[in-house]
Amino acid sequence: MRALARAIDQHDLPAVEKIAQESREDPFEVLISTMLSAQTRDPVTAAASARLFRVARTPRTMAKLTTTRIERLIYPVSFYRHKATHVKQTCRILVERYRGRVPGTMEELLTLPGVGRKTANLVLILSFKSLQNICVDTHVHRISNRLGWVQTRTPEETEQALYKATADRWWPFINLYLVTWGQNVCKPVYPRCGACVIREQCPRIGVERTSVR
Ligand code: SF4
Repeated sequence: MRALARAIDQHDLPAVEKIAQESREDPFEVLISTMLSAQTRDPVTAAASARLFRVARTPRTMAKLTTTRIERLIYPVSFYRHKATHVKQTCRILVERYRGRVPGTMEELLTLPGVGRKTANLVLILSFKSLQNICVDTHVHRISNRLGWVQTRTPEETEQALYKATADRWWPFINLYLVTWGQNVCKPVYPRCGACVIREQCPRIGVERTSVR
Protein backbone atom coordinates (compact mmCIF):
# COMPACT_ATOMS: atom_id res chain seq x y z
CA MET A 1 0.00 0.00 0.00
CA ARG A 2 2.90 2.38 0.71
CA ALA A 3 4.37 1.65 -2.73
CA LEU A 4 0.99 2.23 -4.38
CA ALA A 5 0.49 5.47 -2.42
CA ARG A 6 3.65 6.85 -4.03
CA ALA A 7 3.01 5.36 -7.48
CA ILE A 8 -0.54 6.64 -7.98
CA ASP A 9 0.72 10.24 -7.83
CA GLN A 10 1.66 10.11 -11.49
CA HIS A 11 -1.89 9.14 -12.56
CA ASP A 12 -5.17 11.07 -12.70
CA LEU A 13 -7.56 10.70 -9.79
CA PRO A 14 -10.61 8.48 -10.46
CA ALA A 15 -13.63 10.57 -11.58
CA VAL A 16 -15.60 10.42 -8.33
CA GLU A 17 -12.52 11.27 -6.22
CA LYS A 18 -11.95 14.29 -8.44
CA ILE A 19 -15.59 15.39 -8.08
CA ALA A 20 -15.30 14.93 -4.29
CA GLN A 21 -12.20 17.08 -4.20
CA GLU A 22 -13.67 19.83 -6.38
CA SER A 23 -16.97 19.91 -4.47
CA ARG A 24 -15.26 19.87 -1.05
CA GLU A 25 -16.56 16.37 -0.41
CA ASP A 26 -20.18 17.40 -0.91
CA PRO A 27 -22.14 14.22 0.00
CA PHE A 28 -24.82 14.86 -2.62
CA GLU A 29 -22.37 15.22 -5.51
CA VAL A 30 -20.40 12.18 -4.34
CA LEU A 31 -23.61 10.14 -4.04
CA ILE A 32 -25.00 11.09 -7.46
CA SER A 33 -21.70 10.78 -9.36
CA THR A 34 -21.04 7.38 -7.79
CA MET A 35 -24.50 6.24 -8.90
CA LEU A 36 -23.70 7.42 -12.45
CA SER A 37 -20.25 5.77 -12.42
CA ALA A 38 -21.42 2.14 -12.25
CA GLN A 39 -20.12 0.27 -15.31
CA THR A 40 -19.23 3.54 -16.98
CA ARG A 41 -15.84 4.86 -18.05
CA ASP A 42 -14.44 7.71 -15.98
CA PRO A 43 -14.47 10.42 -18.69
CA VAL A 44 -18.14 9.66 -19.40
CA THR A 45 -19.00 9.80 -15.68
CA ALA A 46 -17.15 13.09 -15.26
CA ALA A 47 -18.84 14.75 -18.24
CA ALA A 48 -22.33 13.45 -17.34
CA SER A 49 -21.96 14.57 -13.71
CA ALA A 50 -20.79 18.03 -14.81
CA ARG A 51 -23.80 18.42 -17.15
CA LEU A 52 -26.23 17.32 -14.45
CA PHE A 53 -24.72 19.47 -11.67
CA ARG A 54 -24.70 22.52 -13.93
CA VAL A 55 -28.49 22.26 -14.05
CA ALA A 56 -29.18 21.06 -10.49
CA ARG A 57 -26.80 20.94 -7.53
CA THR A 58 -29.12 20.05 -4.66
CA PRO A 59 -31.67 17.27 -4.00
CA ARG A 60 -34.44 19.88 -4.10
CA THR A 61 -33.57 21.26 -7.53
CA MET A 62 -32.74 17.83 -8.98
CA ALA A 63 -36.02 16.32 -7.70
CA LYS A 64 -37.85 18.90 -9.80
CA LEU A 65 -36.27 17.74 -13.07
CA THR A 66 -38.24 15.25 -15.13
CA THR A 67 -36.78 11.78 -15.56
CA THR A 68 -36.48 12.46 -19.28
CA ARG A 69 -34.43 15.61 -18.64
CA ILE A 70 -32.13 13.68 -16.31
CA GLU A 71 -31.80 10.94 -18.94
CA ARG A 72 -30.77 13.48 -21.56
CA LEU A 73 -28.28 15.13 -19.24
CA ILE A 74 -26.53 11.92 -18.16
CA TYR A 75 -26.57 10.11 -21.52
CA PRO A 76 -24.40 8.14 -22.50
CA VAL A 77 -23.65 6.61 -19.06
CA SER A 78 -24.54 2.93 -18.99
CA PHE A 79 -28.12 2.14 -18.02
CA TYR A 80 -28.91 5.86 -18.18
CA ARG A 81 -32.66 5.23 -18.11
CA HIS A 82 -32.49 3.17 -14.90
CA LYS A 83 -30.03 5.58 -13.36
CA ALA A 84 -32.19 8.62 -14.20
CA THR A 85 -35.16 6.97 -12.48
CA HIS A 86 -33.05 6.13 -9.43
CA VAL A 87 -31.57 9.62 -9.25
CA LYS A 88 -35.01 11.21 -9.34
CA GLN A 89 -36.44 8.81 -6.71
CA THR A 90 -33.40 9.26 -4.50
CA CYS A 91 -33.67 13.05 -4.64
CA ARG A 92 -37.34 12.88 -3.70
CA ILE A 93 -36.58 10.67 -0.69
CA LEU A 94 -33.74 12.96 0.39
CA VAL A 95 -36.14 15.92 0.34
CA GLU A 96 -39.09 14.15 1.96
CA ARG A 97 -37.32 12.00 4.54
CA TYR A 98 -33.98 13.65 5.19
CA ARG A 99 -34.75 17.39 4.83
CA GLY A 100 -32.71 17.61 1.66
CA ARG A 101 -29.56 16.10 3.13
CA VAL A 102 -27.68 12.89 2.40
CA PRO A 103 -27.85 10.60 5.43
CA GLY A 104 -24.59 9.48 7.00
CA THR A 105 -25.18 5.84 7.92
CA MET A 106 -24.92 2.65 5.89
CA GLU A 107 -28.46 1.57 6.88
CA GLU A 108 -30.03 4.83 5.72
CA LEU A 109 -28.00 5.04 2.51
CA LEU A 110 -29.02 1.50 1.53
CA THR A 111 -32.69 2.53 1.60
CA LEU A 112 -32.09 4.87 -1.38
CA PRO A 113 -33.02 3.45 -4.81
CA GLY A 114 -29.99 2.34 -6.82
CA VAL A 115 -27.62 2.64 -3.84
CA GLY A 116 -25.71 -0.49 -2.92
CA ARG A 117 -22.80 -1.08 -0.57
CA LYS A 118 -20.22 0.21 -3.04
CA THR A 119 -21.90 3.61 -3.38
CA ALA A 120 -22.74 3.84 0.32
CA ASN A 121 -19.17 2.99 1.35
CA LEU A 122 -17.70 5.60 -0.99
CA VAL A 123 -20.04 8.32 0.31
CA LEU A 124 -19.18 7.39 3.89
CA ILE A 125 -15.43 7.41 3.17
CA LEU A 126 -15.19 10.52 0.99
CA SER A 127 -17.86 12.77 2.49
CA PHE A 128 -18.32 11.57 6.06
CA LYS A 129 -14.63 10.74 6.58
CA SER A 130 -15.39 7.24 7.84
CA LEU A 131 -12.32 5.17 8.76
CA GLN A 132 -14.41 2.02 9.17
CA ASN A 133 -15.43 1.28 5.59
CA ILE A 134 -13.87 -0.31 2.53
CA CYS A 135 -15.36 0.48 -0.87
CA VAL A 136 -15.09 -2.46 -3.23
CA ASP A 137 -15.74 -2.06 -6.93
CA THR A 138 -14.67 -4.33 -9.77
CA HIS A 139 -11.04 -3.05 -9.69
CA VAL A 140 -10.66 -3.61 -5.94
CA HIS A 141 -12.26 -7.05 -6.27
CA ARG A 142 -9.98 -8.12 -9.14
CA ILE A 143 -6.70 -6.79 -7.76
CA SER A 144 -7.27 -8.05 -4.20
CA ASN A 145 -7.70 -11.52 -5.66
CA ARG A 146 -4.66 -11.24 -7.97
CA LEU A 147 -2.57 -10.13 -4.99
CA GLY A 148 -3.84 -13.08 -2.96
CA TRP A 149 -5.20 -10.82 -0.19
CA VAL A 150 -8.56 -12.58 -0.58
CA GLN A 151 -10.01 -15.54 -2.44
CA THR A 152 -13.52 -14.47 -3.31
CA ARG A 153 -16.08 -14.62 -6.11
CA THR A 154 -18.00 -11.37 -5.66
CA PRO A 155 -17.25 -7.77 -4.61
CA GLU A 156 -19.56 -8.26 -1.60
CA GLU A 157 -17.48 -11.23 -0.41
CA THR A 158 -14.32 -9.26 -1.10
CA GLU A 159 -15.41 -6.37 1.10
CA GLN A 160 -16.01 -8.66 4.08
CA ALA A 161 -12.79 -10.62 3.47
CA LEU A 162 -10.74 -7.41 3.20
CA TYR A 163 -11.85 -6.29 6.67
CA LYS A 164 -10.14 -9.42 7.98
CA ALA A 165 -7.15 -9.45 5.61
CA THR A 166 -5.96 -5.83 5.81
CA ALA A 167 -4.86 -3.40 8.51
CA ASP A 168 -7.61 -0.93 9.32
CA ARG A 169 -5.40 2.12 8.79
CA TRP A 170 -5.54 1.37 5.05
CA TRP A 171 -9.30 0.85 4.73
CA PRO A 172 -10.21 4.38 3.57
CA PHE A 173 -7.43 4.28 0.94
CA ILE A 174 -7.94 0.83 -0.58
CA ASN A 175 -10.48 2.07 -3.12
CA LEU A 176 -8.45 5.08 -4.26
CA TYR A 177 -5.21 3.11 -4.63
CA LEU A 178 -6.59 0.00 -6.29
CA VAL A 179 -9.02 1.81 -8.61
CA THR A 180 -6.21 4.08 -9.82
CA TRP A 181 -3.95 1.05 -10.25
CA GLY A 182 -6.68 -0.92 -11.98
CA GLN A 183 -7.42 1.86 -14.47
CA ASN A 184 -3.77 2.38 -15.39
CA VAL A 185 -1.67 -0.70 -14.67
CA CYS A 186 -3.45 -3.76 -13.27
CA LYS A 187 -6.02 -3.74 -16.07
CA PRO A 188 -8.69 -6.43 -16.35
CA VAL A 189 -7.18 -7.88 -19.53
CA TYR A 190 -3.42 -7.84 -20.11
CA PRO A 191 -2.26 -6.21 -16.85
CA ARG A 192 1.00 -4.28 -17.21
CA CYS A 193 2.94 -6.38 -14.71
CA GLY A 194 6.29 -5.29 -16.16
CA ALA A 195 5.49 -1.68 -15.21
CA CYS A 196 4.03 -2.53 -11.81
CA VAL A 197 5.74 -1.25 -8.64
CA ILE A 198 4.44 -4.18 -6.60
CA ARG A 199 5.33 -6.97 -9.03
CA GLU A 200 7.89 -8.43 -6.58
CA GLN A 201 5.17 -8.84 -3.95
CA CYS A 202 2.41 -10.02 -6.29
CA PRO A 203 1.72 -13.73 -6.90
CA ARG A 204 -0.44 -12.71 -9.92
CA ILE A 205 -3.14 -15.20 -9.07
CA GLY A 206 -5.32 -15.95 -12.09
CA VAL A 207 -3.25 -13.78 -14.46
CA GLU A 208 -2.59 -15.72 -17.64
CA ARG A 209 -1.33 -13.10 -20.05
CA THR A 210 0.25 -9.74 -19.39
CA SER A 211 0.85 -6.69 -21.52
CA VAL A 212 4.25 -6.31 -23.16
CA ARG A 213 4.15 -2.55 -22.55
S1 SF4 B 1 2.08 -7.48 -10.73
FE1 SF4 B 1 0.53 -7.58 -12.34
S2 SF4 B 1 -1.21 -8.67 -11.42
FE2 SF4 B 1 0.11 -7.99 -9.74
S3 SF4 B 1 -0.73 -6.01 -9.11
FE3 SF4 B 1 0.89 -5.59 -10.59
S4 SF4 B 1 -0.14 -5.45 -12.59
FE4 SF4 B 1 -1.56 -6.47 -11.13
